[in-house]
Amino acid sequence: MWAGNEMWAGNEMWAGNEMWAGNEMWTRNEMSLRTTERSHFTTMAPPSILGNNGDGSNSAADENYADINWDELGFSLVPTDYMYVMKCANGEKFSQGTLIPFGNIELSPSAGILNYGQGLFEGLKAYRTENGHILLFRPEENSKRMKTGADRMCMPSPSIEQFVNAVKEIVIANKRWVPPHGKGSLYIRPLLMGTGALLGLAPAPEYTFIIYCSPVGSYHKDKGPLNFKVEDKLYRAISGTGGTGGIKSVTNYAPVYSATTEAKANGFSDVLFLDAATGKHIEEASSSNVFVVKGNAICTPAIDGTILPGITRKTIIDIATDLGYEVMERAVSVEEMLDADEVFCTGTAVVVNSVASITFQKTRTQYKTGPETLSQKLRKTLLGIQTGCIDDTKGWTVLVD
Ligand SMILES: *Cc1c(COP(=O)(O)O)cnc(C)c1O
Repeated sequence: MWAGNEMWAGNEMWAGNEMWAGNEMWTRNEMSLRTTERSHFTTMAPPSILGNNGDGSNSAADENYADINWDELGFSLVPTDYMYVMKCANGEKFSQGTLIPFGNIELSPSAGILNYGQGLFEGLKAYRTENGHILLFRPEENSKRMKTGADRMCMPSPSIEQFVNAVKEIVIANKRWVPPHGKGSLYIRPLLMGTGALLGLAPAPEYTFIIYCSPVGSYHKDKGPLNFKVEDKLYRAISGTGGTGGIKSVTNYAPVYSATTEAKANGFSDVLFLDAATGKHIEEASSSNVFVVKGNAICTPAIDGTILPGITRKTIIDIATDLGYEVMERAVSVEEMLDADEVFCTGTAVVVNSVASITFQKTRTQYKTGPETLSQKLRKTLLGIQTGCIDDTKGWTVLVD
C-alpha cells in the first residue's frame, strides 16, 4: 500500500480518496460491510442460491462450506468474503497487497478507468478435487497475458509471482466458497485498472490490481445446445496487429453487445465474428475461441492480434495433439466451417462446448453433438485434469490447499 503518498495526502480535494491510502478508512469500510452484510448479500445473490437459514445460522453445520445451494449455481455473481487489493503509482512497481472484505470500491469520477477505459480483466477457476484439495489451472498464463495487455495499455502490472500468490491468497481466504467436487468451481476475476484521477489524455497516475471471486456452475446451464449466428455486419477487432482484440481489455466487450443482444433476441446463443479485413474468415465467438473438426483434422484461427489468445485454446491444442489429432492454427474460411463435421468453442467459463448449429445469412448448418463427439472427449479430459481426476503430466495444475 502507498499510504504515505504525498500526491493524495497533500491535497484536501482528494480527501475522499484516502479510502485507498489509509488503513483506518478500510476499517471503516469493513465496519459498514459488517453491519450491512446481510442486506448486501441478499441484494446481490440470486435468492435461489441462498441457504434456508436467513437468520445466519448454518444448516449444514459445516464450517468448511458456505451455506448456499450448490446445485443451483449458474454463472452469476455470488459475493464471497474477501477481495484482494494492491495499488501502485504510475512509473512504480506493485509491492504489497492486502485482503479486505468484499464490497464496493470508491473511485474519483475522473479515474482513468471510468473515462478512458484503461483497464484489463482476467478469468480463471479453482476446482476442488475428490479428496478436498483445491487446484488452480495455469495461473501463470493469466499473469503473462495480463502483462502483455498492461504493456499495450501503458499500465504497470504485477509480477508473475505477485499475481499467482495473490490468486492463491484469495482462494484460501474464500475457501468455503469453492464448490464441492463436481458442483462447479470458484471463478476468479483479476482486474488491473487506472484508478488515479486525471482529465487530459494520459496514462492514469495510479493503478489498482483487484481480485474478487464468485462460485459458479456451468456457463451454459439449462441453455441447451449452442446455436451460433455468423455476424457479418459488426466486427469485434480491427485487422492487423495494432488493435486490442488480442488482449483482455475491458473495452472489448461493450462494442459486441449490440450484436449478441440481437442474436439472443432471435434465439441464438452467441455470434461468431469474422475478420474485419476480408469478412471471409472466422475469428471467434464473443467470449470464446472456436475450433472446427473434419475427420482427423482440427483447425482453429491463428493468433494474429485480432483473436484473444485463450489459455483453454492453447491447452486444447496440446491435449488434441497428444490424442493423435492433427491440429492446425491457420485462417479458417466460413465455407470450411460450414463443411466441418463438428464445431466447438473453448474458454475458461465455457470449458469446451459443442456447437449444434451455425446460421450464416439465411442458411443454418447443423453439426455433430452428444457424448461421442471429439469436443466432449476433450472437455472430459480437460475437466479431469483441472479437477485432479486425471493425472496432470504437464505441470498445468497448481495446488493451493
Ligand atoms: C477470455 C476470452 C477468451 C477465452 O480465453 P480463456 O483463457 O480460454 O478463458 C476468448 N475470447 C475472448 C474475447 C475472451 O475475452
